[in-house]
Amino acid sequence: MAYIQFLGAAGTVTGSKHLINTGDPSGKSGFQVLIDCGLFQGPKEWRERNWRDTPVPAKEIDAVILTHAHLDHCGWIPRLVKEGFRGPIYATSPTIDLCGIVLPDSGHLQEEDARFYNKTKKSKHDPALPLYTFEEAQNCLQSFKPVQVGETVTLSPEISFRFARAAHILGSCMAEVTLTQNGRSRRLLFTGDIGRVRDHKVAPGKVVHSGPAEGEIADLVVMESTYGNRAHPKEDPLPELAELISDIAKRGGSVLVPAFAIERTQKFVFILKHLIESGQIPRLPVFCDSPMAIKAVEIFLQHDEEYSEETRDMIRKYGSPLKWPGFTFASTPEESKQINAAMMPSVIISSSGMATGGRILHHLAQRLPDPRNLVLFIGFQAPGTRGFTIKSNSDVVKIYGDYVPIRAKVAALEQFSDHADPPELLQWLHTFRNQPAATYLVHGEPNASALLRDTMKKELGWNVQVAQYLEKVELP
Ligand SMILES: [Zn+2]
Repeated sequence: MAYIQFLGAAGTVTGSKHLINTGDPSGKSGFQVLIDCGLFQGPKEWRERNWRDTPVPAKEIDAVILTHAHLDHCGWIPRLVKEGFRGPIYATSPTIDLCGIVLPDSGHLQEEDARFYNKTKKSKHDPALPLYTFEEAQNCLQSFKPVQVGETVTLSPEISFRFARAAHILGSCMAEVTLTQNGRSRRLLFTGDIGRVRDHKVAPGKVVHSGPAEGEIADLVVMESTYGNRAHPKEDPLPELAELISDIAKRGGSVLVPAFAIERTQKFVFILKHLIESGQIPRLPVFCDSPMAIKAVEIFLQHDEEYSEETRDMIRKYGSPLKWPGFTFASTPEESKQINAAMMPSVIISSSGMATGGRILHHLAQRLPDPRNLVLFIGFQAPGTRGFTIKSNSDVVKIYGDYVPIRAKVAALEQFSDHADPPELLQWLHTFRNQPAATYLVHGEPNASALLRDTMKKELGWNVQVAQYLEKVELP
């Protein structure tokens, strides 16, 4: 009997790794496929697992299917290759292009961390080593194989798969896996991360397809549960956003927006353009200060098959965001520093999204002490990050070793998430053409997964369980 084993994103939101083995749980090994190969992030207890070998030797895994280019789904691939994996990694071509920027960048950060620990002697490992290097990350890109949405790929006589749109970020897909054994076929659906509904008002600024593929059929579903215990606000955030920006402009201040370089920055840039062109905010200079965001826009422009209708219209009307008048994309550190001297008012979008590092730090250090400015959060701020400290009405925040007073106004809009919330998930699950025999919830904090399990049982009558780390599940 074939089985699935949860090697990550079980009990936590990071480290997505789900193994399908066509052999049996007692040890007979069949064909082995890993769905996603993500990095554990956040609390140390989970991050330490990045350093452990997989329970199955990497060289015995035959293939990887990757749902999308977020690090918590793809960031362990270079390590898997380092440990001996030699098979193909299947992904859509936008996902492969995005991995081409996020994986080498991750390798670079791993090397920087190792250098920092060696300098400060803060690590118990001597010398501290990177999980993988920039070069190792770059080399593993050769193993990626592009797959079109809807194309069937046969991995072995028993197992094939197809991608269906997940509408989470550029290139993101669910994996529909078909397993045929002893004349019997079973469909397994791995959702990866699921995007928002089609409604523009409650999920504004979708630059890629909105709404996950409907009408799925599955015997077993492995589904994300990030927002299992909270719903997104249902009102259109654009009027509030326009008011916040216009108000700051009137006061002569600047708006500082910490944002993830991939997807969120592009989404926000398109929203600003819309607000400017429709006269809802003044024509302020917009600075996009992140080299990775520039690369992400370039990749985005190469994949018009991914655009939403609104995006298609915007690009038809105004051309490439990289050339919009009044929008400046800073790539070099010098250009980044020049923004500090820029005349107010302006909008500055920079990463990292939770202000844990990156260029946003020097902008915060410069602009937080001035009450005319606004820091606007458009993404989740994890406890323990600088973003969380600033958002929690603290008086000061430590940046580059100094305590910086927070006198700027601070606001947060929660509508820009790229994950479906429980009402949206239910709306999507209602489109299924059958009732799966079993559903396992992954990619959620324990209380979020548990609450979503209860909601799904109650609303759909499905057999739903929360996946446990390292648990093996026989197929129905
Ligand atoms: Zn994701």
